Amino acid sequence: ASGYTLLRDPRHNKGLAFNGKERDAHYLRGLLPPSVLSQELQERKLMHNLRQYKVPLQRYMAMMDLQERNERLFYKLLIDNVEELLPVVYTPTVGEACQKYGSIFRHPQGLYISLKEKGKILEVLKNWPEKSIQVIVVTDGERILGLGDLGCQGMGIPVGKLSLYTALGGVRPSACLPITIDVGTNNEQLLKDEFYIGLRHKRATGQEYAELLDEFMSAVKQNYGEKVLIQFEDFANHNAFELLSRYRSSHLVFNDDIQGTASVVLSGIIAALKLVGGSLADHTFLFLGAGEAGTGIAELIALEMSKQTKAPLEQTRKKIWLVDSKGLIVSFRRELLQHFKKPWAHDHEPVKGLLDAVKAIKPTVLIGSSGVGKTFTKEVVQAMASFNEKPLILALSNPTSQSECTAEEAYAWSEGRAIFASGSPFDAVEYGGKVFVPGQANNAYIFPGLGLGLIISGAIRVHDDMLLAASEALAAQVTRENFDKGLIYPPFSNIRKISAHIAANVAAKAYDLGLASRLPRPKDLVKYAESCMYSPIYRSYR
Ligand code: NAP
Ligand code: MN
Repeated sequence: ASGYTLLRDPRHNKGLAFNGKERDAHYLRGLLPPSVLSQELQERKLMHNLRQYKVPLQRYMAMMDLQERNERLFYKLLIDNVEELLPVVYTPTVGEACQKYGSIFRHPQGLYISLKEKGKILEVLKNWPEKSIQVIVVTDGERILGLGDLGCQGMGIPVGKLSLYTALGGVRPSACLPITIDVGTNNEQLLKDEFYIGLRHKRATGQEYAELLDEFMSAVKQNYGEKVLIQFEDFANHNAFELLSRYRSSHLVFNDDIQGTASVVLSGIIAALKLVGGSLADHTFLFLGAGEAGTGIAELIALEMSKQTKAPLEQTRKKIWLVDSKGLIVSFRRELLQHFKKPWAHDHEPVKGLLDAVKAIKPTVLIGSSGVGKTFTKEVVQAMASFNEKPLILALSNPTSQSECTAEEAYAWSEGRAIFASGSPFDAVEYGGKVFVPGQANNAYIFPGLGLGLIISGAIRVHDDMLLAASEALAAQVTRENFDKGLIYPPFSNIRKISAHIAANVAAKAYDLGLASRLPRPKDLVKYAESCMYSPIYRSYR
């Protein structure tokens, strides 16, 4: 191949890092200025440039440009500066990018499958240049983060999530495929926007929707086989639960909004019990918000409790209560409840507000997952602190403005007794002469390692026990030193090591359950996981 082409191939381009011999061997003489820079120097230069941009969206665009230009350098930056760059390539900035996707759109990324491709999805998949795919992240754009229906512009999400699969979980970039399914949008503003990139009509629903998804799922399996992981991302409630239950017994599927959230939150709870005391079954849980996050977490807690106590699920679920927009979910409401809420309709008189629910249920753990901010009021937190020595309070709603309460409020209103973690990051807080560091229940702790574990074992189905295995592995990474600061999650800077441990535990579970197809089983799964991880260090081309 010509040197000119090499410089334009992001997977192989090294820019000024090509040395003299490589420049000779690959017809690069004259196409680059004489100076040779190391990857480290390139990284330092780019980080410096990136920090000049004050507008987050500009940083996002600079990172996307880098990904299109020099893939290894992109991942080197992301891995080495994960805490700084995660909010740039993923939430919150990716949300803004999706909203403005039409006007910042330059290179198409990923695959677009719209209603126009009905009947031809297999052909569309064959247009993608890579043949060996291990992870697909797919969205239909209906519920992008907390931003609602962004239609075809949801593509930023699969692209961003997959870059984390690579950076945090070590999955090869060439094995990752972002896909957006476009069935229209109900977002009036986008339908009117002249730069909108998707189909300009209302969303298809019912049979038309189901048929397109069915064709997609069959085509993926036909083209890539049984072991490709399909992650559903940011589907609206009414489709998310349905798709997961329809395909979980025939495909390797995972929904991060439901299962990934559940796993990361359960992990935080398992870790927190070391501070609070007691086992899961000794605790009572109350949720504000009974959607994908809330019911997903509740179900996984009940499952883990049932494993630990050998009690049936129907019984362990009774330790968990949820409040939705209509009040406490109780048996008297059962007939009118969506099916995913029905298991949580326990016997109790009707209760309207959260404060009354807290007083009636007296939970030891309070979890916010409604997407509505400032709902853990002073009265609510004080009530929690009045009947708990160490109330566990998780304010999961994103972004920061929607957090149920701030870290500072949780510590102050509980007189420094609360164990607190949140969905959005909060700075450390000083209270009563002590410094508290709140943990962040970020899904990015779990899905990259989980995905790696599925890949290295050649798993063909995702079993709930694998989610439990991921939670336990993450919780085991929290050190004494972390606990002393009030942290129930380990620092993100160690994420590659954390992912390897999660992957190993998930893979072990896959082997134990007979769902692993990669044989023989490696002896040391942690070492094996580490050895499989993609490294962004430049190759030498001789
Ligand atoms: P969702 O499926 O739309 O569910 C929202 C739930 O909250 C619904 O049950 C809804 O009630 C309820 N709700 C809404 N307004 C309420 C109010 N004023 N009072 C009481 N309940 C109310 O959303 P989701 O996917 O579960 O996400 C919820 C939040 O969790 C979002 O802010 C998201 O950012 C956050 N989240 C955090 C993490 C994390 O920390 N790792 C992960 C995932 C999600 P109805 O059912 O009655 O409509
Ligand atoms: Mn999501």
